[in-house]
Amino acid sequence: MKDFAVVGSGVGGSSIAALLNAKGYDVALFEKEPYLGGCSSTFIHKGYKYNSGATTLAGYAEGYIVKEIFDAIGFTPKLIQTDPSIVIIQNDKITPRYKNFEQFFAVVTINYPHTKNKEFWELVYTINKEFYDVKNYYYSNQNIFKKLKSLLSFVPLTLKFQKYLKVNAHSYIQKLFGNISKDYLQFLESQILIVAQASMKEINFLTAILALGYTFNENHYVIGGFGALFDDLTQNINAIHRNSEITKIVQQKDFFELYTKDEIFKAKKVILNTTVYDSANLFPQMNIKKYYKKYEKLNNYQSSFMVYMTIKSNKEFSHHYQIIQNKVIKNTLSQALFVSFSDENDTKIVPKGCYSITASIHTDSRFWENEATYKMQKKELEATLQNIILEKLSIDKGEIIEIFSATSKTFQNYINRSQLGGNAITMKNFLPFLPANDTPIKNLYNVGDTVYAAQGWPGVMLGVKNLKRLLGV
Ligand SMILES: Cc1cc2nc3c(=O)[nH]c(=O)nc-3n(C[C@H](O)[C@H](O)[C@H](O)COP(=O)(O)OP(=O)(O)OC[C@H]3O[C@@H](n4cnc5c(N)ncnc54)[C@H](O)[C@@H]3O)c2cc1C
Repeated sequence: MKDFAVVGSGVGGSSIAALLNAKGYDVALFEKEPYLGGCSSTFIHKGYKYNSGATTLAGYAEGYIVKEIFDAIGFTPKLIQTDPSIVIIQNDKITPRYKNFEQFFAVVTINYPHTKNKEFWELVYTINKEFYDVKNYYYSNQNIFKKLKSLLSFVPLTLKFQKYLKVNAHSYIQKLFGNISKDYLQFLESQILIVAQASMKEINFLTAILALGYTFNENHYVIGGFGALFDDLTQNINAIHRNSEITKIVQQKDFFELYTKDEIFKAKKVILNTTVYDSANLFPQMNIKKYYKKYEKLNNYQSSFMVYMTIKSNKEFSHHYQIIQNKVIKNTLSQALFVSFSDENDTKIVPKGCYSITASIHTDSRFWENEATYKMQKKELEATLQNIILEKLSIDKGEIIEIFSATSKTFQNYINRSQLGGNAITMKNFLPFLPANDTPIKNLYNVGDTVYAAQGWPGVMLGVKNLKRLLGV
């Protein structure tokens, strides 16, 4: 009997499994796929490696959450610092998001001149530094008393930033700038969307500030692809079951039974890294089913359309670009495309002289449900995005070695989820209404981007830290 069974090896599952293992607990980690990492994994296609979704690691710096958890595990990842962390291309404007404030400000103020620029960007910079100094909050959902007590722990954070928490980001930005050009607003909106996973109109100003300001903190490129990081992170766990989908979990008196196609495993405690929307399907017991079912309404169907490419080129590229178009691209939810390149010296992911490219754009998973039009739609969007990438980044068609794409359906087939980007904390979805890392069911826990705290490495790692506290380890 294991102390813990962790179902799913995404950021949350792998990190908490490695942490518990480092603390001496007997842990089994189950992953449906051969690759660890879920949305942050690396896969091989026709001999070439690709990051499946995530490409940037934020929050790995002294005093920041990812480093705090990796340090607690005793793990040091193999990274390269990325600066600028993104280069934003909008028509003829190229804006690198440098870590250094002055360096970034000099460019933004030429590309998007405005009298309020200094006030606005200084606010973004300062709040980003101050936010991470507040640390002792946590969130529990075990019962109403524990929930209320945990919510009290947010009081210092709320008091400190109440001015920005209470207001809508879109209104605040409009009011602060007064007259702001459509292009400048889109420049801000596109960056907010990739971090907050929600539009300015849906979020408070504090979330927008954090989304706009993460580039002032250290950001990293992972050598060998994110998959390599997961293999290293979990290397000391003895029981990693790859290609092992958990199809059913039955709660017994003091333990759980976990079923795969061929075997039954037992564990005292279970941590689910599956999405909160899909977890009900795993349980035959009505009380557990009911608990997860009430969160199905949080599914906003937001997803990603991906283009993967290997190119052979002697040009130099930054690690990450955001290309902003003038209108929303058909079959997507966005006018901005995020394009990541492997490092030119990273021969662990591609041969020298080649680049592995992962490009993504927001879409709605329901756009991809019609089987009759699916193939045509996919081909059409792949071609549109390919043309944009080639044109804006000056890549010749002849430099492409291979190109293919993926939709919400592809993610569903591989990692059991079509909603991607997790659960954004919005004006409507606020803490008391969101699932936490614990549940009212004894010894059953959650981790990942659809439960507290939110999506992306820093968000999921805040959840890992929360879970660590709730487990008392
Ligand atoms: C296109 C895209 C780009 C992104 N870019 C970034 C970025 O650059 N930086 C960043 O910080 N974040 C980024 N994100 C967000 C980030 O990738 C996710 O928030 C994070 O990886 C989610 O981690 P998770 O813990 O929720 O696990 P998930 O990624 O959801 O992984 C869950 C795992 O569980 C497995 N699983 C599911 N069901 C079962 C089962 N029944 N049995 C066994 N295993 C199961 C799945 O196969 C999967 O491996 C991006 C996301 C996407 C989609």
